Amino acid sequence: MTLLVQKYGGTSVADIARIRAVAARVAACRARGVQVVVVVSAMAGETNRLLRLCAEIGAEGLREQDSVIATGEQIVAGLLALELQRLGVAARSLTGEQVGIRTDAAYGKARIVDIRSEVLRSALNNDEVPVVPGFQGRTATGDIATLGRGGTDTTAVALSAALSAKECQIFTDVDGIYTTDPRVCADARRLETVHVEEMLEMASLGAKVLQLRSVEFACKYQVPLRVLSSLTEDHDCTGGTLITYEENEMEDPVVTGVAFNKEEAKITVAGVPDKPGIAHLLLSAVAKSNINVDMIVQNVSSAGRTDFSFTVQRDEFARAMVTTKTAAATIGATEVLGDADIAKVSVVGIGMRSHPGVASLMFKTLSDHQINIQMISTSEIKTSVVIAEAQMETAVQALHTAFDLAQAPQEERITGGAEQ
Ligand code: ASP
Ligand code: MG
Repeated sequence: MTLLVQKYGGTSVADIARIRAVAARVAACRARGVQVVVVVSAMAGETNRLLRLCAEIGAEGLREQDSVIATGEQIVAGLLALELQRLGVAARSLTGEQVGIRTDAAYGKARIVDIRSEVLRSALNNDEVPVVPGFQGRTATGDIATLGRGGTDTTAVALSAALSAKECQIFTDVDGIYTTDPRVCADARRLETVHVEEMLEMASLGAKVLQLRSVEFACKYQVPLRVLSSLTEDHDCTGGTLITYEENEMEDPVVTGVAFNKEEAKITVAGVPDKPGIAHLLLSAVAKSNINVDMIVQNVSSAGRTDFSFTVQRDEFARAMVTTKTAAATIGATEVLGDADIAKVSVVGIGMRSHPGVASLMFKTLSDHQINIQMISTSEIKTSVVIAEAQMETAVQALHTAFDLAQAPQEERITGGAEQ
């Protein structure tokens, strides 16, 4: 019998009407003889509300905070099981502990270490639909631990792997992964399939839809993962975007999508001595402050001095500037310049491995639009540039057109808000 794991995100279970719509889809699957394990998020906004309550208390304590925020999912699991029963579908809510999801003790960002699938299997053998609250597990000492924001995706993928489900279906408020953000490019096209590596590289497009950790998990266990909208009447559950693991040299498009990110800032250390150990000195100071560095560029030197630039997350920019200034002073650099008004734009495609010329078309397109490139970085399947934030939309639209990613005009599309 076909087994699907279906995960419903916060906006898909935001109120009773939505929960009823979820139950109707699950009931339709059961009527077709498909077995379903449902994994649910908390209602949209609920986890934030619970976190605010914890903040209001004003005492730190991740263990207790996890006990509080794990409840959002449990409420939905119980309600959905009730609604399924009302529709005449045998269903049972089961907590993370009851289904044997074991985690480490890193409260607030716990990792799953083991799943005992017996309880789920016996529920399925009894023709029941197990409804599992996502985001939660149990530590070795019996505590509740949560898996980090967006963690319900990881629960769903982990259960799919443990049960060898045919697909892990992530229902959300958008109907798949797009060639770029439709809010920036009106002619963005939904991808029927996307390679898992592209998905991981297109963080800015994918992260709103799927917790990246869940994609890494899916990749490790080769779990077939499909992203689809819960807002349509697609009871067949065959639409959306399927994440694939195979490469097809002949058919893979050279460029699959244009991703962008406004969440970085650039720091330039000017006039650093061009000698061994300088990059290490600057970046280890930043790393010691627990700040992640993304892109790095060092110029050719003249008269023994060079400029050294790197990017950090924008919310860590102020802290990174302080650390960098201190480190720069010790090596006698001329000055440290910061720029938060930047954007990173990337073209991504698995076909880039076998097709040269992507970077050159990218640079030509940007130059045709008078867009100055401040930094460049490449991987096998991605070319990224840093440009002025004000030019980001122009760049994304121009690249989307240049790489011919626009949609077939009659295609239907649903775009929703970002689900948390
Ligand atoms: N409710 C949790 C969150 O908002 C987990 C999830 O929905 O995936 O992050
Ligand atoms: Mg989510």
